[in-house]
Amino acid sequence: MVGEAFSKQPVDVPNRKERPSEYFAKYVFNRQKMFQYLPADVFRKMCDVMDNGATLDLATADAVAAGMKKWAMELGVTHCTHWFQPLTEGTAEKHDGFVEHDGKGGMVEEFTGKALVQQEPDASSFPSGGIRSTFEARGYSAWDPASPVFIIDDTLMIPTVFISYTGEALDYKAPLKKSLKAVNEAAADVARYFYPDVKKVVTNLGWEQEYFLVDESLYAARPDLVMTGRTLMGHDSAKNQQMDDHYFGSIPGRVAAFMKDLEIHALELGIPCKTRHNEVAPNQFELAPIFEECNLAVDHNMLLMALMRKLARKHGFRCLLHEKPFAGVNGSGKHNNWSLATDTGVLLHGQGKTPIDNLRFITFIVETLMAVYRHNGLLKASIISATNAHRLGANEAPPAIVSSYLGSQLAEVLARLEESEDEDIFNLAGKESKTLDIPQIPELHIDRTDRNRTSPFAFTGNRFEFRAAGSQANCAASMIVLNTAMAEALTDFKLRVDALIEEGMDKVKAILRVVREDIKTCKPIHFDGNGYSEEWRQEAARRGLDVESSAPIMFDQYLTPETKQMFSRMHVFTPAELEARNEIKLENYYKKIQIESRVFGDLCLNHILPVALRYQSALIDNVFKVKEIFPAATAEKLNANNLKLIEAISEHCAFISEHAELMRLARKEANAMVNERDRAIAYHDKVAPLMESIRYEVDHLELVVDDELWPLPKYREMLFIR
Ligand code: ADP
Ligand code: MG
Repeated sequence: MVGEAFSKQPVDVPNRKERPSEYFAKYVFNRQKMFQYLPADVFRKMCDVMDNGATLDLATADAVAAGMKKWAMELGVTHCTHWFQPLTEGTAEKHDGFVEHDGKGGMVEEFTGKALVQQEPDASSFPSGGIRSTFEARGYSAWDPASPVFIIDDTLMIPTVFISYTGEALDYKAPLKKSLKAVNEAAADVARYFYPDVKKVVTNLGWEQEYFLVDESLYAARPDLVMTGRTLMGHDSAKNQQMDDHYFGSIPGRVAAFMKDLEIHALELGIPCKTRHNEVAPNQFELAPIFEECNLAVDHNMLLMALMRKLARKHGFRCLLHEKPFAGVNGSGKHNNWSLATDTGVLLHGQGKTPIDNLRFITFIVETLMAVYRHNGLLKASIISATNAHRLGANEAPPAIVSSYLGSQLAEVLARLEESEDEDIFNLAGKESKTLDIPQIPELHIDRTDRNRTSPFAFTGNRFEFRAAGSQANCAASMIVLNTAMAEALTDFKLRVDALIEEGMDKVKAILRVVREDIKTCKPIHFDGNGYSEEWRQEAARRGLDVESSAPIMFDQYLTPETKQMFSRMHVFTPAELEARNEIKLENYYKKIQIESRVFGDLCLNHILPVALRYQSALIDNVFKVKEIFPAATAEKLNANNLKLIEAISEHCAFISEHAELMRLARKEANAMVNERDRAIAYHDKVAPLMESIRYEVDHLELVVDDELWPLPKYREMLFIR
């Protein structure tokens, strides 16, 4: 139906004369602005707060607020807001004007340290999983000085944590910061075995954000996209990604204009955008910045997703961040590149100069594997959602089993270390030079970590890449688990090494002994083969890895004794917080499917069936007319095909209406369940499969019904931006 006309939007190519280095972080109150706008002693205090986690007193906060206000007002700012990450998707904000009565009947602009540091947003409409009814009805947001304040339009945005009055986290940032503290302390302790001067360990995160673009007008004509973020029906386009011609292909002009605009805005907000390219599926793209400290990287990802949604509309697009907006083509993920670094260098880098460097490398690799091995089910639970479930386990994304890919060289080093008593094992070269015999292409350093796209947790040279996260997820969800599990593994490692040292064993020998033990223990997590294969699923089950594929049951991982113990011990979550958050996960899960099922039912009954029947009537009409004007024998021959079609349409329609009713009843039954977990399981086991089976029939109707009548834009119309 809708075609060309909608894709001819004006191309607005932003043209900026300055270089990125000139406008980078223009709207960020970073260290440089602090230096410029704060008195010297206040600046020094703020550095201590940011670098060493010193507490911020109200007098300093007042002085900082005054400097911020001056800077912000020079840029036309009139409002401020605390910006936080509640347990819904995305971010939340509540804007307050700078204005105050001046006591003389007029107004003054005012922004105090108190307004900077703390706010009480009306917390009652954010999900709290019962925390607030159990504990205390109010919540408040508190400034996170580790993430700089920034400006959007006329508003000063203040990154904050969001917690209940009794201290339970109601957001992602508070537990993320706790997990970062835990891993930094544990990792610094272990790093000091090798480098006694290490002061702290920083966690780095470099995310790669995938997304789809569709024409705004086509989007508006798809109620399923508007209401659920994905197409609930739609037959494959004859051409989709089978030619592999989109990945890294040239970027269409309108999309390039969007990307350019997006990058300018992102750079102005201090997001260090680096890479952009086409992805595998038609209309699918990726943006990746340079990695940053994890807390800041998470904020930047949230900010970027909001920017993408906003700017896409300016360019006549809608940005789809759903993990699986279109069946039959690849979905979108968010690779999380994770590493630890000391104030003196990275910890996961294998290109060491000395045996001590190599032992440090092996230690941190093996303890990462221990963390992932012990909590593989929980890591999977941290990335699963009603939307990401469509992507995981399909032949495009990591399988629904967490394992780690190491590459042949590292695997060999671990195997040799495990078997040998030899202490000369550490002659481990990191990279290997290889000259390519192509004119003008310089010598390349081939990374020894060959790639394996099917692994959910792959070692890639100086970091691990957790690839299972969903495109619209908050990265913090999986980073909290990974950091905490790592903190636990390193804490246990140190306890065991210290015990051996206490018994009189030499430090290096003690470390080697524990590393060897752990290499044996965590072996089941290491898998370099094809993660998509059925054999792997069976093998993983034999190895005792978590192979559960039902999302609501995966969430149980948050409540196991091991999980509760790990989070309590590392001071990240109390058991009560875990219970509350799980309730929210289950609720989000079934509500998503509930909405999808309702929208889908409506589409079937109000859009698809009436059109199919209208087309069928036209066919029946035609059959009668053919009978009227042709002799019986000829008419029979001419009508044969149409009669078959009429019958097929009847069958599809009968199936659809019958099963739409069954789906409604399944919903009703699920809704009546009191227990959230039971309800989520019922939606997974009963409602979702019915939706799938009905979709199959609808998609077949799409193939036979007159294109002019078909009420929804089709995949081939939506998926190829020209
Ligand atoms: P890919 O080949 O997987 O697309 P890229 O070179 O595009 O890899 O990098 C992906 C992301 O990994 C980027 O955000 C990059 O900054 C980040 N990255 C690189 N090194 C590290 C590291 N040591 N720790 C964390 N992230 C890193
Ligand atoms: Mg990558």
